[in-house]
Amino acid sequence: MNIPFVSFEKMHDEIRDEIYGKFQEVYEKNWFIQGTELELFEKEFAQYSNVKECVGVGNGLDAIFLALKALGVGKGDEVILPGNTFIATALAVTYTGAVPVFAEPDIRTYNMDGRGLEEAYTDNTKAVIPVHLYGQPADMDAVMDFASRHQLYVVEDCAQAHGAEYKGKKTGTFGNAGCFSFYPGKNLGALGDGGAVITNDKRIADKVRALGNYGFRKKYDCQYLGHNSRLDEVQAGFLRVKLKYLDKYNAYRNRVAKRYLQEIKNPRLTLPQTAADRTHVWHIFAVLCEERDRLQSYLADRGVMTVCHYPIPIYEQEAYRFLESGKYPVTKRIASQELSLPMYYGITDEEIGYIIRLLNEF
Ligand SMILES: *Cc1c(COP(=O)(O)O)cnc(C)c1O
Repeated sequence: MNIPFVSFEKMHDEIRDEIYGKFQEVYEKNWFIQGTELELFEKEFAQYSNVKECVGVGNGLDAIFLALKALGVGKGDEVILPGNTFIATALAVTYTGAVPVFAEPDIRTYNMDGRGLEEAYTDNTKAVIPVHLYGQPADMDAVMDFASRHQLYVVEDCAQAHGAEYKGKKTGTFGNAGCFSFYPGKNLGALGDGGAVITNDKRIADKVRALGNYGFRKKYDCQYLGHNSRLDEVQAGFLRVKLKYLDKYNAYRNRVAKRYLQEIKNPRLTLPQTAADRTHVWHIFAVLCEERDRLQSYLADRGVMTVCHYPIPIYEQEAYRFLESGKYPVTKRIASQELSLPMYYGITDEEIGYIIRLLNEF
């Protein structure tokens, strides 16, 4: 049996007519940037998240970068983020001129839980980026407590957590801004690149919108040294179609995760834990295994594709050699032991059963 790590086949089969129709609609309108599809997507995604404002941007990296810029984060500042996140979280900080500082995650949830934040704090700390990694919200009470104690901005990286909730509230709605990626493989994915910033603060939304559009206050009236980072009409239209089904896709992922959690029984594997006050949208189903590389090739030899998220911690990346950084044993352990199992809308019961059987025989 051959099982990919991720597949769009069933998802895109089911919405083929709607997607083709949407493309045709935009094509006939001949309006491709900053039109009604974007306006409506922004309104619908804000509604879905229960916030006042949403600004579509070019991708998730830009969403974080522009949100930090809009808050005035820059040279001389430090921004705290989890050591085990995807590289883009750190790049967004670096591009503002600020310095990324790492905090260790909780080994059970793989997420920020408040510990490690005080150690990472200095007089230069300006903001903290909780990342709702793998689809589970970080401990937002702990993060918000820490931030308010030190008067820090909070920019949430929600690139893996579309629809996930912490104590009944959607991720991205706790801090000053929530940043999303719509890269195709995310829980809500476009058919290309895309991103968004959500916020309840109209001034932040206005500034992110201006910064993503050359810094224009209005056309050809340039208020800031801006960038070009926009969500185009075609992608916004596709996202409007897919947003309607996001909860259904997430529910499917939850059923897959439930089977993995109930039926994988191998003492060599450590299964992920979900804290009681959160919902998990399972962007990634991450297990830990001391023999991770052997497990990965064992599965590959039997047709099951897996991925490591992420094999090299940011502070060990060649591009970040200039960073002075400490030691992060939890981050390091995740980098060397984490393996992500196939997880997507449409993976069949038979396929899940096959993967579970292989894992239990490992
Ligand atoms: C995907 C991702 C990003 C970057 O999003 P892009 O749209 O690929 O730029 C940022 N942070 C995390 C945690 C991600 O998973």
